[in-house]
Amino acid sequence: MVEAQEKRERILIVEDERRIAEILTDYLRQNGFDVEHQDRGDKIVEMVRRQPPSLILLDVMLPGGDGLEICREIRKFSAVPIIIVSARIDELDRLLGLELGADDYICKPFSPREVVARVKAVFRRSRATGAMESETKLFKIDDDQGRITVNGIVLDLTPTEFRLLKLFVSKPGRVFSRNQLLELCYQQEQLVFDRVIDSHVKNVRKKLAKALPGQELIHAVYGVGYRYEAKAANE
Ligand code: CA
Repeated sequence: MVEAQEKRERILIVEDERRIAEILTDYLRQNGFDVEHQDRGDKIVEMVRRQPPSLILLDVMLPGGDGLEICREIRKFSAVPIIIVSARIDELDRLLGLELGADDYICKPFSPREVVARVKAVFRRSRATGAMESETKLFKIDDDQGRITVNGIVLDLTPTEFRLLKLFVSKPGRVFSRNQLLELCYQQEQLVFDRVIDSHVKNVRKKLAKALPGQELIHAVYGVGYRYEAKAANE
């Protein structure tokens, strides 16, 4: 593998289901990562403090500790990328609302290939922060006028679309649930279904596509919601 000479990323898997841990370990190793596995939650925070890994795959239900609490504790002293692994998809929306500071969420059952892809994406995002910043300079946001200019083109946005796009652009890589987007983008108290957000996103995408042809910037996150991410140029 080409990257073998470089410093290898060390991934900490915190997972009490042995079979899942084994499969993940195999896949991640095959993809050139170093892997460490822990099956309990009680020592994790200390372990991360002493010797921070490059990334943590963190199960929620663990003997000796709750994954969400562990995530919160780690965030008090470290920005290490954390991917939360949850057993229930309907739980993800609740998790997102908790503002845990996790970098991504994966739902069981998952394909190991999907996990590897998500791990790589998180690394890419944390490396590309610099590139991303110049990417956000691509957007000029005029709050007074409620106007967003991209690539020199003023987007013709409704007020809701304006708030939506502004939110995405200000938090690259962050996953928002539909409920969060509704709460953050709808000012008046309206009774709306969370799927309404899908049509707003669709409109924003359409308008972006005109200004930036061929670039996909707002990505659906299966079962959860959306994230804004400018893909690196070499992909
Ligand atoms: Ca578990």
